[in-house]
Amino acid sequence: MSIKIAIIGSGPSAFYTVQNLLKADINCEIDIIEKIFSPYGLIRYGVAPDHQSTKNIIRVFERALLNENVQYFGNVEVNKTPSIEQLTNIYDAVVIATGMSKDRSLNINENEIKGCYGATEFVNWYNGHPHYKELNPNLNTKTAVIIGNGNVAIDCARLLVKNKEELQNSDITTYAHKSLLNSKIEKVYIIGRRGPLDAKFTTVEIREMGELLDCNAVLSNGTIRNIDQNLLNDDLAKQYKILTNFPELKNLKNDKKKIVEFKFYNSPVEILGNDQITGVKLKNNFSDKNDNEYNIIDCGILISAIGYEGNKIPEIKMDDSGMILHKDNIIKNGLYTVGWASRGPTGVIGTNKHDGAKVAQHIINDIKESNKPGRTKLKELIINNTIDYISKEEWILINKEEINRSTGSFPRSKFTSNEEVYHFLKNSK
Ligand code: NAP
Repeated sequence: MSIKIAIIGSGPSAFYTVQNLLKADINCEIDIIEKIFSPYGLIRYGVAPDHQSTKNIIRVFERALLNENVQYFGNVEVNKTPSIEQLTNIYDAVVIATGMSKDRSLNINENEIKGCYGATEFVNWYNGHPHYKELNPNLNTKTAVIIGNGNVAIDCARLLVKNKEELQNSDITTYAHKSLLNSKIEKVYIIGRRGPLDAKFTTVEIREMGELLDCNAVLSNGTIRNIDQNLLNDDLAKQYKILTNFPELKNLKNDKKKIVEFKFYNSPVEILGNDQITGVKLKNNFSDKNDNEYNIIDCGILISAIGYEGNKIPEIKMDDSGMILHKDNIIKNGLYTVGWASRGPTGVIGTNKHDGAKVAQHIINDIKESNKPGRTKLKELIINNTIDYISKEEWILINKEEINRSTGSFPRSKFTSNEEVYHFLKNSK
């Protein structure tokens, strides 16, 4: 007998949980259930393709996946088949590690006008997520506006302005690579609703914006004058120094083809355009005196990178942001949650380490071996519902092929659709 554990989702928090369970050397059978064909979630589809060193953690997770006690069920969507209830009936422990993948809304008219995208859509598009490959964002425009002052906003801006040389060694998909290099974009605005000292960018990411080959990073005119020096503490001083290394627009000696402009204290209040976006109206938030001050930026694309929410899961209680309600990662006896689904969309990949260790420890402490069928019954449910799931062995083949078929300096050439994947698997048997 062994403890039967199901993990729903296959991103970093799922794999840190698996890793810790394996380390504990308990007698267990772990099944990772993922709704698309490929594992690794945010690492494969969220982390920017030009940040390969961050993606290296996949090698560690790969070792966990290859463990003989671990199996993988790709293209199996929990809540279609099987449900959470079915899983809790057949497994001793079930862990919900589904992350947060819905864009937070700007609560203006961004969904009514073409050319406005949430960061989930844009990031998944350039990273080759099978649900977003057809997005075809409008890059046939000179100006892009990005709303939000976090690292995701920076990722989107950087990808819009990098040149061919800078995209070498990335695992960007071929279609996104081609579209981005052919894009007409010359100017990208990054808009923050608060000031430079409130921005959530981390120093490495902001510094990178000053090192781009074809693009200057600048601050909007008046930015430095508006920074309250009294608020500078040790933590903020570094970020302040890097940001203020960028000139204000009026002082730019423009020697590069593209510009990223950081504009603070502005919030979007209306997307302009009839069918396709032609601009965005921003309200100045700097002081009460500017209560009625608005700016219009003409643009052909807007990306909203203002954070994420969780999707509803039937029978699971959540707060308004889609964060699962739990106590110390326990939803109820035998049902756990981990990662962004449990604590909201913040932190880097490594932040999930602690979560994964905690949930693994709960399982080790609380769960005793039983006669639950686990994997055998899961396979039966999947087969009875004619789901052609991707097994661990098939994923290994897909992964090898992605690496083998890549050309030049690209480390892999991702499969981006089920059609492609099943066609490849059929011909490789
Ligand atoms: P984030 O860091 O929480 O930033 C969200 C930004 O959106 C904030 O500037 C926030 O402003 C702004 N915002 C929220 N609601 C808004 C609204 N209604 N109007 C205008 N602005 C609004 O989120 P994120 O960029 O999505 O990143 C998520 C997590 O992943 C973060 O922890 C991030 O560090 C991490 N990440 C890391 C990397 C990396 O290490 N390279 C890359 C990508 C992501 P306020 O501060 O005013 O709320």
